[in-house]
Amino acid sequence: MQKLTSFLLLITVSILLFSGCFRSSSSGDYPIQPVPFTSVKLTDNFWAPRIKKNADITIPIAFSYCESTGRVKNFEIAGGLDTGKFQTIYPFDDSDVFKIIEGAAYSLQTFPDPELDAYLDTLIYKIGLAQEDDGYLYTNRTIAEMHGGAGLHEWASKNRWELDSILSHELYNLGHLYEAAVAHFQATGKRTLLDIALKSADLVNKDFGWDRVKVYPGHQVIEMGLVKLYRVTGEKKYLDLARFFLDVRGPKGEAYNQANKKVIDQTEAVGHSVRATYMYSGMADIAAIEKDKAYLNAITRIWEDIVYGKIYITGGIGATGGNEGFADPFVLPNMSAYCETCASIGDIFTNHRLFLLHGETKYIDILEKTLYNSMLSGVSISADRFFYPNPLESNGQHERSAWFGCACCPSNIARFVPAIPGYVYAVADDELYVNLYISNNAGINIGRQKVTVSQKANFPWDGKVEILVDPETSGKFSIKMRIPGWAENEAVPGGLYRFDDQDSETYKIMLNGEPIETETENGYTEIERQWKRGDKIELDFPMPVRTVVADERIKEDVSKVALQRGPVIYCAEWPDNNTGNVLNIVLNRDAPLITEFVPSMLGGTQIIKASGFQTQKTLDGKIDKLPEEPVTLIPYALWNNRGPGQMMVWLPVTLESSHPLPAPTIAWRSKIRASKMTRAISAINDQSEPQNSNDHSVAYYHWWPDKDQWVWIEYDFDKPETISKTKVYWFDDGPDGGCRIPDEWEILYLSGNIWKPVKNRTEYTITKDSWDSMNFDPVLASAIKIKVKLNKDYSGGLYEWIVE
Ligand SMILES: [Zn+2]
Repeated sequence: MQKLTSFLLLITVSILLFSGCFRSSSSGDYPIQPVPFTSVKLTDNFWAPRIKKNADITIPIAFSYCESTGRVKNFEIAGGLDTGKFQTIYPFDDSDVFKIIEGAAYSLQTFPDPELDAYLDTLIYKIGLAQEDDGYLYTNRTIAEMHGGAGLHEWASKNRWELDSILSHELYNLGHLYEAAVAHFQATGKRTLLDIALKSADLVNKDFGWDRVKVYPGHQVIEMGLVKLYRVTGEKKYLDLARFFLDVRGPKGEAYNQANKKVIDQTEAVGHSVRATYMYSGMADIAAIEKDKAYLNAITRIWEDIVYGKIYITGGIGATGGNEGFADPFVLPNMSAYCETCASIGDIFTNHRLFLLHGETKYIDILEKTLYNSMLSGVSISADRFFYPNPLESNGQHERSAWFGCACCPSNIARFVPAIPGYVYAVADDELYVNLYISNNAGINIGRQKVTVSQKANFPWDGKVEILVDPETSGKFSIKMRIPGWAENEAVPGGLYRFDDQDSETYKIMLNGEPIETETENGYTEIERQWKRGDKIELDFPMPVRTVVADERIKEDVSKVALQRGPVIYCAEWPDNNTGNVLNIVLNRDAPLITEFVPSMLGGTQIIKASGFQTQKTLDGKIDKLPEEPVTLIPYALWNNRGPGQMMVWLPVTLESSHPLPAPTIAWRSKIRASKMTRAISAINDQSEPQNSNDHSVAYYHWWPDKDQWVWIEYDFDKPETISKTKVYWFDDGPDGGCRIPDEWEILYLSGNIWKPVKNRTEYTITKDSWDSMNFDPVLASAIKIKVKLNKDYSGGLYEWIVE
């Protein structure tokens, strides 16, 4: 009762102060404060080794790529230590160096490393030299000015800042500089990078304003960076500048970078998803610090828009590659899902901030889902290979890369992974929030109490958790433990995905060995008491394998299920399933779903054993059901660690929704050769027909970036065949993409060892969005070749090539 009264009082105070939905906050910042990762030492078998590998492998190789690609040299040249032109491709390449410094600074706090510390000092020295006298820092322009303006990137304007709202990325680089500077200052106590950042921010503050340069950032992130500078210096001008960069946005810009409306009028997640999530995070910061209700309302509505219709079951966001961003609600294709690794990290930032504002578990449910699935998929188990997009289905065309020309994702992984322990706990007054269950030892100030809190858990494989509470002196405070949505029959907050069965088993909670009754509020179950040394809480979350179904408006997931256990989403991958064919599997829903831990597999993982069958098309167009066989599933995040091949998250449960093996046609039985062999070549005889020439839900093959030349593909038959007809379906992703239907095509056949053109009976037509068929005089051939003349200005590709 007393608790209820104090809760009501809290609500009343909140209403009086802010006439809205803010929790009480006396600090002028988030009402709930995260327990910094420096206070939480992970001791588990899942995350701790990954954080160590990030320090030992990811950060060093990321720095070595910055050196070998010329990113560091850009600073050396701009700083007068070297000579030459701008070394890299993009004007935002400076940002990678800043992001990896941020990651290294975090990492130093867990793994002290004098050599790394000294390397950072050297880098920061070079960055300082590259900064112009008035504080301007953008190596591309500084280097170009040394060459009389030659080499200025086409995205940058002659004058500073003018094209930032388009593509110059001047402010984007600086946002990452500010974040790195604060991290480095907090890690080492050195002001070197912070002073560079403040000098820069003072110039930005002088140049930008309602009566000065009135340009919004083309790629958001400086908003978050400035808030961090405000927190570390206490200088309000940086906070005001962050707010300016949000308020100056819209309404007449592009949806692509969220400038189509004033930020407070935005209700939908649109455009580039990394830009979007960085902006929402910056807005949450302003909402928290300035108690701004309009900001809060906007991000609340946008969060609902994402969660109710634009998020994947893996937590990934940003469905389409063309805009690297959001599509319409329920448009969530699987094979072409973009789900950029950076967008997952950005969405974690946003959801964490919303939790700190509201204290509700639904935000951590999204955070946890993203963390264990879409984010983690971005980096290999070996910690040296990275995904940019994280699709939910593959025909083998996807593979992690060691690095990218545009290297935002690896550098984001490098800085995010060491900070993961900071998401485990949070505090508000005399309340401790336990958000993630990961074995750890933590030293936390709860109210006036110094408390050692430790967890023993084997997440995400086992739902049992022990929390040991050791206050320095016995005292009263409250511990709020998150009850994950998945432990309460909720696959994802908002209902876009749901468990198709309701599990009656519920979680159990014990205090010092005795079952206790607790109250649950906002998804947290709470124990408030006089805590004393050695107190122990035990939680037991049931972790059965659950089948997930999607909202029927998601066309691609109809008559399919995904398997989830705890927060982990599973997939079927090629090495574990018969001949490597996965896409044509149908899951037998009546067969039991058995789970076991396999220590020797993928660094030790829980797998699921199910049952199903493959389907195959027949020559007369029917679908055959092949004999029943075991189906093995692994955690989605661990796919593509054993080479590229087929993978599928959403498993068909009906013949109709299955993707049958191709029928044994001539094309299917042939060996393919091509002027350009890529893994995508297998698309051309897979017998899947697109809806149109720009259908990204069906696999296709392309010659991009080649253009204005003849290219070819050849089918070598397994025995001579008499053929007289061919059909081709072209790929064309105009107007946004780089491929168009070709200018010409021609068919040749191999007779003996001579290639001869066929004598066509019908025209060689070239059509978008439908088949082009061509009949020719019958020939006996041992192979057939299609020659394609690519457009002068565009590349080309095709979905399917049929021979009859
Ligand atoms: Zn990225």
